[in-house]
Amino acid sequence: MTESLDLSAPTEDCHKLKQDPFDNYFPDIPSAGFPRLKTLRSTAAKDPAAEMFLEMASTHLPIEFKGREIELEAHAFEDETISYQAMALVHRGHGKVDHTSTAIPLVRVHSGCVTGDIFHSLRCDCYAQLQLSLEQIINSDLGIIVYLPHHEGRGIGLVKKIKAYAAQNRGLDTVDANLAIGAPIDARDYELPAKILKHLGYQSIRLMSNNPAKLSALAQHGIKIVEQVKTMTDPSQHNERYLATKRDRMDHML
Ligand SMILES: [Zn+2]
Repeated sequence: MTESLDLSAPTEDCHKLKQDPFDNYFPDIPSAGFPRLKTLRSTAAKDPAAEMFLEMASTHLPIEFKGREIELEAHAFEDETISYQAMALVHRGHGKVDHTSTAIPLVRVHSGCVTGDIFHSLRCDCYAQLQLSLEQIINSDLGIIVYLPHHEGRGIGLVKKIKAYAAQNRGLDTVDANLAIGAPIDARDYELPAKILKHLGYQSIRLMSNNPAKLSALAQHGIKIVEQVKTMTDPSQHNERYLATKRDRMDHML
């Protein structure tokens, strides 16, 4: 699927971008600090580790949250395999924190969960975690959610996740269910979110997470975690065992 690209020559996409510059459709967010496609490609030519980024697009995204209209910046990223896409939603409070600020953002790196995030499944705590993170980010002067759809089911994908749920119905916990279906306990990789944060200009962050593996993975990819902000949510009868397993077998701080 992946073609090798001549990074030195502008592609059709680059031409399109030149004819339709960022500032034309996004005039009130300065382009400084936001690397454009051409910049990303030329960076990739010098640094093989940066080749993951092929495309980025940005816009304003008004959302409804608990009856309020909130204005966010939406930055979409796509890596070279095309199947890995990610979105960063940035909230800047009261216009005080601009792109040149040295403020340290409050960040949630959220693994996509179709059943939880969209349909509010009670078998996991993803929806509650996402809502809590969104609330804290909206209440902060500088907050970012990096949303990773390809992290579905701790990176094993939707089909295997549902297979693992079926195995849990037979009595296994979330760790043993993955092992029983031949899937890794956690297949998530944090290189892409680390690159996204760096490209947005934030190498130091305050991370909202209870998962020490996430902290160390982001740190391994060059992100400095200056503070860990725990995200405590209330367990339900459906996810009580799931949360206990995350605490007891995956070292989550719950
Ligand atoms: Zn979930």
